[in-house]
Amino acid sequence: MEQTYIMIKPDGVQRGLVGEIIKRFEQKGYKLVAMKLTSPGEEHMKKHYADLSSKGFFAGLIAYMTSGPVVAMVWEGKNAVAEGRKMLGATMPSESAMGTIRGDYCIEVGRNICHGSDAVESAKKEIALWFPEGVTSWSSCESSWVYE
Ligand code: UDP
Ligand code: MG
Repeated sequence: MEQTYIMIKPDGVQRGLVGEIIKRFEQKGYKLVAMKLTSPGEEHMKKHYADLSSKGFFAGLIAYMTSGPVVAMVWEGKNAVAEGRKMLGATMPSESAMGTIRGDYCIEVGRNICHGSDAVESAKKEIALWFPEGVTSWSSCESSWVYE
């Protein structure tokens, strides 16, 4: 089963959207295998967004992402990476379909409330960065009702 790294950004936490975002992943049928509320600081966040370090918005992005705690999570299930991205919506909230998390709850790209891994390889890297202690594997009693 695939795993994806999903993070509720500081604005999502401040705006009380933690439960709503978790609810959507739970109700879809994905399985939560790791979660913590954390304020990891600038160095850690620069590692997380290392691929974007040359972008003009990088300094602002790091300031935004270190402005308060985030909720770091790993969700597991079939096609969790690609499906998770669909559930978040487009990077630009103005291009996110209604019904997606970003489409429903935010307006600007620099306050787009959630992060999701964009590929299986980046998910592996992000999970290792945020959960060096590892995730918790468990079997869910609903799995035979979610998967055929
Ligand atoms: N971002 C921004 N301005 C931009 C593009 C991105 O502030 O023009 C921020 C935004 O918060 C986005 C994050 O940088 O979620 C990471 O960008 P990426 O292209 O990886 O988008 P994502 O994978 O989050 O959809
Ligand atoms: Mg990205």
